[in-house]
Amino acid sequence: MSLGRTYQVRTYGCQMNVHDSERLTGLLEDAGYVAAPEGEQADVVVFNTCAVRENADNRLYGNLSHLVPVKEAHPGMQIAVGGCLAQKDQGEIVKRAPWVDVVFGTHNIGSLPVLLERARIEQEAQVEIAESLEVFPSSLPTKRDSAYSAWVSVSVGCNNTCTFCIVPALRGKEKDRRPGDILKEIHALVDEGVLEITLLGQNVNAYGSEFGDREAFSALLRACGDVDGLERVRFTSPHPRDFTDDVIAAMAETSNVMPQLHMPLQSGSDSVLQRMRRSYRQERYLGIIDRVRSAMPEAAITTDIIVGFPGETDEEFEDTLRVVREARFASAYTFQYSKRPGTPAADMPDQVPKAVVQERYERLIAEVNDIAWQENQRLEGRVLDILVAEGEGRKDERTLRLSGRAPDNRLVHVAVDENVGVPRPGDVVTAEVTYAAPHHLVADRILSVRRTRAGDVGERVKQEATPGVLLGMPSLPS
Ligand code: SF4
Repeated sequence: MSLGRTYQVRTYGCQMNVHDSERLTGLLEDAGYVAAPEGEQADVVVFNTCAVRENADNRLYGNLSHLVPVKEAHPGMQIAVGGCLAQKDQGEIVKRAPWVDVVFGTHNIGSLPVLLERARIEQEAQVEIAESLEVFPSSLPTKRDSAYSAWVSVSVGCNNTCTFCIVPALRGKEKDRRPGDILKEIHALVDEGVLEITLLGQNVNAYGSEFGDREAFSALLRACGDVDGLERVRFTSPHPRDFTDDVIAAMAETSNVMPQLHMPLQSGSDSVLQRMRRSYRQERYLGIIDRVRSAMPEAAITTDIIVGFPGETDEEFEDTLRVVREARFASAYTFQYSKRPGTPAADMPDQVPKAVVQERYERLIAEVNDIAWQENQRLEGRVLDILVAEGEGRKDERTLRLSGRAPDNRLVHVAVDENVGVPRPGDVVTAEVTYAAPHHLVADRILSVRRTRAGDVGERVKQEATPGVLLGMPSLPS
């Protein structure tokens, strides 16, 4: 009975959730639902929630209450809540929001279509939470957001116990996919025109710990090097404790593994890292950075940093600034510590006053931005291959620019020069960096445009979505 009913998936949180939402849309379309046109009220609204931030709960229940009048005006409309907050709150959600029809967890996203049907037939809310993974999400149907780039899960869950983090409690212990399954999926993606993949795991470089192969991740990176047509391999998120030399060597010696590393630091202070139970210290972290830089001098390194962790002193914060100055990150995601009920850190003494956290946060951002800009300025005059992203681009007085990513994942706004060719999303533009801004590069001297199969596929998908638009010339196989 779901045939033709429309859906909308609202995604919150990390890449893991973004990837799960591609599965949720794949499942719904497989069950006969269609995406609700922009601006139209959907028959089914799915919230794929995040539980990392304190206000995550308030935001969800706020959004749910906004839907009460919408649902009254839209008989038959259904609301489903999934993701980490659903895994945490379970039946509590339908107690606090009895107009919700389905609650499902992080381990059983495959159940959504059946639960929607059951709730509709029995006119009763369905709450189904699995305590451990039922099927590896990668075996579920998918609807990817991009024609040229794809997430590929290598593991779910995490064996670490960082004291500020609720993920292990909600996503469970680490479960690793078999290497063969991962490579099969990668080959299938490349056959569909994908030329960039991101290997995904809560703790991606611990991959293989479940089947006892400590070098499984570096072996996987090297195996990606043998996949014809796969131009760019990225991965997220590694943990410094498991970042071993075989991974650095595999990155440096595998041509399609990109010179880019996102490695969460969280704090630069050894005593704070100890209270965070991050099981590495400043010296090891900076040692990894040095070894990565000597193996790949052009690598862009980014990170995550938490300011204001319980008990953080001025001296401990200065340690973080010192590591930031030494590590010279291309950019950093910076967070003010947010108490997460259910985590050990939430009950720690000496919670840092908000005003102090705010002041430190501003100082950290200023330091990070300064360094990021200096690092960007080093690239002026450099010639880069830019993978063009989806989006209409932006026009200033004279120049239309499209956005894309350099091999080191830096954001580049690249000019369109019709004499050289108009690139499509998924095509690769070779251009010279003419200006470096704090958070992006500008490349106005276009040397060439390489049309890719990914660009053809993206154009065809767009064509099918908007009949009547003329198709461009197909590109020669590269
Ligand atoms: S490594 Fe730590 S922060 Fe990351 S998901 Fe695991 S417990 Fe959370």
